[in-house]
Amino acid sequence: MNEYNSQSEIQSCTFPVYNYGDKSQVNLGDDGMELVESGLVLQLKSCFFDMIDPESRSMKVERVTYEMLCAVKNVLNAEKVSLYLYDEWKHEFHHESTAADAGQSNGPSFLVNKRLNPLQLGSQVYRNSLPFEGLEEFDLLIEIMDGEKIAGFLVIKEKAMTSISFFTDDFFEIIGKQCYLFLEKCRTWTKVSMEETRYKLLYRVTEKFHSSMDMDDVLGEIIMTLQEVYPSFTYYLLLSQDNHNHSQLPIKDLEYDSENIAAMQAYLTGTTQFEDSLLERRSILYAPLKGKQGVYGVLQVNASNTLVFPKDEVEFITLLADTAGSALENAQLYQQSRRLISDLQLINETSHRLNSNLRLSETINYMCEQISSSFLAHEVGFFMISNVHADVQVLPGSTKFFWENEAAEYINYLMTKIQRENDSLFIGDLILPEKEAKEMKFRSVMAVPMVQSDTIKGFSIVLHEDPYYFSFETFKLLQSLIHHSTLAFTNSMLREELEKMIITDHLTKLHSRNYLDERIQRAMLEDDQGTFILIDIDNFKVVNDQYGHQIGDEVLVQVANLIKGNIRGSDVGARWGGEELAIYLPKITLNAGVAIAERLVERVADSTTPQVTISCGISFWNRDRQDSFKRLFKRADEALYIAKNSGKNRVITQKDTIPAY
Ligand code: GH3
Ligand code: MG
Ligand code: MG
Repeated sequence: MNEYNSQSEIQSCTFPVYNYGDKSQVNLGDDGMELVESGLVLQLKSCFFDMIDPESRSMKVERVTYEMLCAVKNVLNAEKVSLYLYDEWKHEFHHESTAADAGQSNGPSFLVNKRLNPLQLGSQVYRNSLPFEGLEEFDLLIEIMDGEKIAGFLVIKEKAMTSISFFTDDFFEIIGKQCYLFLEKCRTWTKVSMEETRYKLLYRVTEKFHSSMDMDDVLGEIIMTLQEVYPSFTYYLLLSQDNHNHSQLPIKDLEYDSENIAAMQAYLTGTTQFEDSLLERRSILYAPLKGKQGVYGVLQVNASNTLVFPKDEVEFITLLADTAGSALENAQLYQQSRRLISDLQLINETSHRLNSNLRLSETINYMCEQISSSFLAHEVGFFMISNVHADVQVLPGSTKFFWENEAAEYINYLMTKIQRENDSLFIGDLILPEKEAKEMKFRSVMAVPMVQSDTIKGFSIVLHEDPYYFSFETFKLLQSLIHHSTLAFTNSMLREELEKMIITDHLTKLHSRNYLDERIQRAMLEDDQGTFILIDIDNFKVVNDQYGHQIGDEVLVQVANLIKGNIRGSDVGARWGGEELAIYLPKITLNAGVAIAERLVERVADSTTPQVTISCGISFWNRDRQDSFKRLFKRADEALYIAKNSGKNRVITQKDTIPAY
């Protein structure tokens, strides 16, 4: 193949052509011959000099080779000159280029070495009987040496009717040597200019890396650069921790158990590894993607059709891989810092909420929502361990699953483990005792104890159906969240316990439920009869929703005040819980109780703003029937239920048909 067949393209080599063809006409003698020969060598050299174009940034080796042969052909006034170079791997001579008069063929594309000894001293010139088959048309072969090794040869065909046989072997040797030197210089120059291009590209990649935080951008740029510089190679990025959201990059997982020992070796040792396969005629390079703090993956470069990875390219590829490593490290550090910030925000926000005096159930509800949404958990629960009974209680606000029977196994197993190990649990593949993996609804578990004053007050469980779902970072964040909220939790728990013990409800200033319970229980022992009224505000949720909790509280106080205004000092008005209130009328008959309740229903409807109504359920006891506080309450509750279902804003009395026990 020769793109430069037209002689007219070669303008840089113009010199007089001597016709040495007929030796008889030129009787020069030895000295004269030497003069002519050195003149020709100078001419050739000046031709080579002209061929170097300082304007051009890079030289095409193929073109230069052809031009060089043209120069040789002209200087020797030959018909055809071909260059063959030796391929060490194949032990063959390859046809590089031919300069010939019109109508001449190139000669065979490769030749198997027959008689040339690649390790000989000094070059040889063969005349007439050439050491290769297929070169019969040529008249002369000049070996070209690279030190002691043969690098190739020039073959020359004389013009018809002319001869170059009177030139000395020394002269031909010099011609061969000059050609080789010239080619080597061109090669070096080309290599330098190619290197320059590469470093420009490297600079571009580095620039990108400094201007972008986007890992994909940088990795994409690196792959693009490699493809630009070495279009025949193929590339893969083997990443150790990947989230697979890279658009179109050739990314593979770096698997620890992979058979790819060289890749693993590169990753673990942080040094470039090679894998040359003689059989498959390919060579693979594994360059570690190294940052300052670690190795983030491996760049795999496959060079097919080569036996040994071209060493010159290793340095450049290693530099690119280092850049990729730094880019990955930067991106990871950036993501890490962003995650830390959002973690801190979560902790901060949660602490704030927990300090704002919420009810325990609301606190837990809030925490469960936060944890579910931040960690994408399926179930989140909070549990209190009772010191007295050593049993566990699911706290209201925990997600649905924990109220089902199936949850007990999880809760008990995890509680025992927490208590035994006195530490948090991070389990990626939970299999409960006597169960199989496929029977397990939840495989990923995090469980963190709530510790106060060195005792485990309770714990939280976070579940996900998939195994190994939560990251260790998530686990640490959960620990930190629970740690920060434990005090608020235990305070809420304590407050609610205290509320039970005190006799006055702080909002309504009515009696507490505990107090009411005790009073009724005592009255049932000491008195003959009594009436119990259970009161629930109608549609109270709507009030809260429309006016807010604050106004809701105020309405609750208004109703409480109306109760206080409608009973006597010996009666007990109490807050039963939430927006449910209760009155116990000691020694009062059912009829009198009904009258009081009806009056109260009317007054509440008349004088509350925003207006609310109440529903009442009434129950009554006397010594005629065996009774208990529990049954008394149950009858009132059932009556209240009927009141609610029959239009609200009314009083319903326990039916006589409802048995006392
Ligand atoms: P119903 O007529 O069936 O009773 O309707 P309701 O909306 O009152 O329903 P329910 O009794 O089930 O709901 C009670 C609501 O009252 C739920 C809760 O948000 C609200 N609530 C409970 N305790 C308090 C409180 O102390 N203050 C305020 N503002 N709201 C409360
Ligand atoms: Mg209500
Ligand atoms: Mg209610």
